[in-house]
Amino acid sequence: MAWRGEEPSLPRRLSPQRLGAIRRRLLDWYAEHEQPFPWREARNPYAALVAAVAAQQTQISRVLEIYERWMTAFPTIESLAASSDADALRVWDRAGYPRRALYLHRTAQIVCEEYGGALPTDRAALESLPGVGPFTAAIVLNFGHGIDAAAIDTNIVRVLGRVLFGSLQPALEVSAHDVRWATERLLPRGEAKRWNPALMDFGASVCGPKPSCAACPLATLCAAAPRFLGGEQASAVRAQGRFKGSQRELRGLIMSYLRTSDGPIDRDDLIAQAARMAHVKRSRVILAERSLISDGLIQLTPAGLSLGGGA
Ligand code: SF4
Repeated sequence: MAWRGEEPSLPRRLSPQRLGAIRRRLLDWYAEHEQPFPWREARNPYAALVAAVAAQQTQISRVLEIYERWMTAFPTIESLAASSDADALRVWDRAGYPRRALYLHRTAQIVCEEYGGALPTDRAALESLPGVGPFTAAIVLNFGHGIDAAAIDTNIVRVLGRVLFGSLQPALEVSAHDVRWATERLLPRGEAKRWNPALMDFGASVCGPKPSCAACPLATLCAAAPRFLGGEQASAVRAQGRFKGSQRELRGLIMSYLRTSDGPIDRDDLIAQAARMAHVKRSRVILAERSLISDGLIQLTPAGLSLGGGA
């Protein structure tokens, strides 16, 4: 797709030779380091959707574990649509950000009701589904339908922001507009299925938060390499806050009690138990309980608290 917006200014010109060399070296690196994840070979849009949703804010080693558990429980989009949101939350287990399980469940229902069980091939239609953003839509198109689409995730932003813009910490310094331009400009036509995972894996290993520039195949093409090799360091991206006693911990505790229970749990008992366990006041657990209810992850019925409630 031709870029219609403003072209960014770059510290080094992106000549056709440099562009071609970046693509070639990245794809050569990938040919040696490709990881055989099942969703990359499956040519199954549902499998690609599950993997992409599982990959959001999650390390790749855990994505495989979540993916396999999920696909064993719900091997087809129809089987997921026919389950309950409580089933989906149980299978998601302790994988974090459990709203993703509800999004997958709701998306499966919409796809079965409105698209006959087939995930759309149109990017805008995909992005209108619950929990499907530009990254997930691109992965479904690439791996599921074999259609070119540029993906953007934190690893891709880091690699392209460094190579093209010379930024050491692109997440803080390169605009969303410039990142989009870079992903579109570099995408080799007909190769998205290899190009996007190559960039993601390269950003997760060679060009990580502490890059290995001395051993990097892109070093002579990269605008940030002279800065790193000269001793400069990337500034830290803000670390996640303390976990102990946090709302994240309390939400996780409530969810884990409900996941392992066969039926509703008395609300007062659950709140008292969680407060004791986390050494916090009841009022803090109640705040976590309210946020879970408003996220549709748990519900309060006359019988007590239980999983589900709707995305
Ligand atoms: S030279 Fe360094 S900064 Fe540039 S792509 Fe390679 S590892 Fe990343």
